[in-house]
Amino acid sequence: MREKKNIDLTIGDSVREKKIIEDLIKDKSGLLYSTELLISIILLVFILGIISNLSDDLNEKVLSEEEFSSLEDISIKTCDYLLNNPGNPENWEENENLNNGIVSSNIIPGLAIKNKKIENNQFYSKSSNDEKVITNTISYNKLIKIKNNYNQLITTNLFNNSFKSSIAIYPLNNKIRPITMGYGFDNNFGDENNEEGNIIVVNRTVKCDFYSNFVVYNFNDYELFRDDYKRDEICNHDTNPNLTNHTSDIRTFWLCKNFRVYKKSLEEYDFYLLSDESIKNSNSYWILESLNRTNNNKERLNQEIIDLNPFFREDLENSSNEIYSIHFNTPKNNINDFKTVLVAIPKNMTNNLIANDELKYDYFKSQEVNFLLKMRYK
Ligand SMILES: [Zn+2]
Repeated sequence: MREKKNIDLTIGDSVREKKIIEDLIKDKSGLLYSTELLISIILLVFILGIISNLSDDLNEKVLSEEEFSSLEDISIKTCDYLLNNPGNPENWEENENLNNGIVSSNIIPGLAIKNKKIENNQFYSKSSNDEKVITNTISYNKLIKIKNNYNQLITTNLFNNSFKSSIAIYPLNNKIRPITMGYGFDNNFGDENNEEGNIIVVNRTVKCDFYSNFVVYNFNDYELFRDDYKRDEICNHDTNPNLTNHTSDIRTFWLCKNFRVYKKSLEEYDFYLLSDESIKNSNSYWILESLNRTNNNKERLNQEIIDLNPFFREDLENSSNEIYSIHFNTPKNNINDFKTVLVAIPKNMTNNLIANDELKYDYFKSQEVNFLLKMRYK
């Protein structure tokens, strides 16, 4: 998902642009900080590894104050390292071998997200600087890669086999399942009763991106502007006398957006319109049309998942790209129930998402999670 998707969006919004620039300025020292952390972790792992090898009975007894505080030190440093560092080498999570359980010993994983993307439309900004790490946001994709290769990536590569550990995220939004990995969640941690004093748990609240970078369009204008919302995009219904005008009236808002889809994108991505379950109460209507296949009939929007590929495919049969126009009509009193995104999911991931019950609106937003790292000497 590093490359820009083949979809053009016709948007210009100075508020959003300002936000992007602010985000870019915010985080300058992240990478340097992370490198220092990694070095100190490597040193600590090395020293503590020697200690734990020397004292075989470490697990049978309660740790001394010194041992305990060393463990605490490395747990905190490791946690901060994982959250603030994107890992090495660059884009390690995209290494195809990871999907087959083949893990290079060169990979030191990190969970931070590099490469700035635009807040609303979630495209990687042209002006983005590669060295920027997004603060306090972890990559769901990296987390899943770690989960599937935990022993190699964490126990061996990061900890040089000196520690037992586990990682978990608990989303504050209960529509998203917690994810757990490593020791301790499948009883491999051993007899927990004997280890109360030997385990360190570090807990941080961070954001996780989940599948938010698959969002092509976040229709959050009502949410941003509330009662002051005014449609700022030109709608093709404004100028065509044969089509119903989409000017908001005293009772309802119209939200209209234009975007381009390339035929090539259709081969690579599955397009869906995803809505929160509250959409059923929003009494919203929608129209999707291409500019040369206009449509005047609004339809009730009450499905959480709408597959858009068949619609696009019909238009793109004889054309390399088309401009589409999507229109929503929502009663002003119900704008809180209107939560809808247009997403483009890489085709090789769609079945997985469906099988894991993750093709849902909530998985396509950054969400706050409690990040837990548990550690003990091996
Ligand atoms: Zn319109």
